[in-house]
Amino acid sequence: MAKRQLTRRQSWRIDKVQQERAARAAKRETRAMQELQGGELGDEQNGLVIAHFGVQVEVEALAGELKGQIFRCHLRANLPSLVTGDQVVWRPNNTGGGVIVAQHPRHSELCRPDSRGLLKPVAANVDLIVIVFAPLPEPHANLIDRYLVAAEHAGIQPLLLLNKADLIDAQNGEAIHKLLAVYRTLGYPILEVSAHQGDGMEKLRAELNGRISVFVGQSGVGKSSLVNSLLPDVETRVGALSELTGKGTHTTTTARLFHFPGGGELIDSPGIREFGLSHVSRDDVEAGFIEFRDLLGRCRFRDCNHDREPGCALLKALEEGTVQHQRMQSYRYILSTLQEK
Ligand code: GDP
Ligand code: ZN
Repeated sequence: MAKRQLTRRQSWRIDKVQQERAARAAKRETRAMQELQGGELGDEQNGLVIAHFGVQVEVEALAGELKGQIFRCHLRANLPSLVTGDQVVWRPNNTGGGVIVAQHPRHSELCRPDSRGLLKPVAANVDLIVIVFAPLPEPHANLIDRYLVAAEHAGIQPLLLLNKADLIDAQNGEAIHKLLAVYRTLGYPILEVSAHQGDGMEKLRAELNGRISVFVGQSGVGKSSLVNSLLPDVETRVGALSELTGKGTHTTTTARLFHFPGGGELIDSPGIREFGLSHVSRDDVEAGFIEFRDLLGRCRFRDCNHDREPGCALLKALEEGTVQHQRMQSYRYILSTLQEK
C-alpha cells in the first residue's frame, strides 16, 4: 500500500494521543515517586516477576513474612522494561501493591520479534528449554534442530522430550530410535514419557526440579497435556492463558510463571511455545550445531558454504562420520529457509 499523507486532522489526533500517553506516564511516575519518598513503603526485598501487564507487573515475594504472596507493582521510570522471570528488588505499599526499585541482572533471555520485527525479551532467567516431540505428529528432525539452535543461541540448556511413548510401535519404532540416537550421539539429554499413561513422568519431574523451564514444540505433540499433568491444580491451557489478559488468542499474550508442586518453575505462553521458530541468522545456525564448533574456521576458504568447496572441514567430517548426515541435511534445510525470507 502506498504511503498516504496524513491530513492535518489526523496529525492533530496522533499528537493528542501521544500527549495524553506521555501525561499518563508522567502521572504514574509521580505516583511511584511519591510512594517512594513518602515513606509509606515497606522495606526493600527480593521478588520474582510472575507476569507483566504493560506498565505493571505481578511480583511474588521471595522471602520474609510476605513470602509467596503476589503484588501488583509499578516500576520506577528509570528501569528497563521487565519480563516474566525477572528477579527484582521491590517495596510493598500499604494498599496491597508495591513499587519496583531495581532489577537484578538476567542470566538468560528468550527473545521474539515484536509486531515491528524488533527482537524483544519475553522471558528471563530460563534454565531449561524442553523440546517436545512425539511419534505423532511425525517428528521433523529439522524442526528439532531449529529449536536446538535457538537454545544454543540463548545459552540455555535443552532437554529433548519424546512424549506419547505409548504410541511407539513396530511401524514407527525404528525411525524414532534412529532419530533419538542422533541426539544421543551429540550428548543431548533425552527423556521418553507418556503424558497419558504417566510413564517417565517421575524422571521428568526430577529434571524440572530447581530450574525455570519452558516447553516448546510443534502443535499436537502434547505440551498442554504434559503441563496439565505437571500442574494439576492450575488452569494453564493456552486458551485460559489468553483469557487472563482479555486479548483473545493473539500470540503476544503475556508469559506467566507457575510453580510445579514437585519443585521448579514453568514459564508459559502461546508465544513461548513457538520460541525458536523465528529469527535466527546464518551465523546463529552454524554456531547452534554443536558438532560444527571445532570445525568452523578450518575450511580452506573463509567464505566456505560447506556445499562442494574443496578443503571444506565440514564435508570432510561428514565423510569421516563425525558429522551425521541427518544433521547436515537439517543444517542445509534451515539455511535454505533463511535465504527464502
Ligand atoms: P499441544 O498442541 O502440544 O499442546 O498438544 P496437546 O496437549 O493438545 O495434545 C495433542 C493430542 O495428543 C491430544 O489429543 C492429546 O490427548 C494427545 N496426547 C497428549 N499426550 C499424549 C500421550 O502421552 N499419549 C497419547 N497417546 N496421546 C497424547
Ligand atoms: Zn566448509
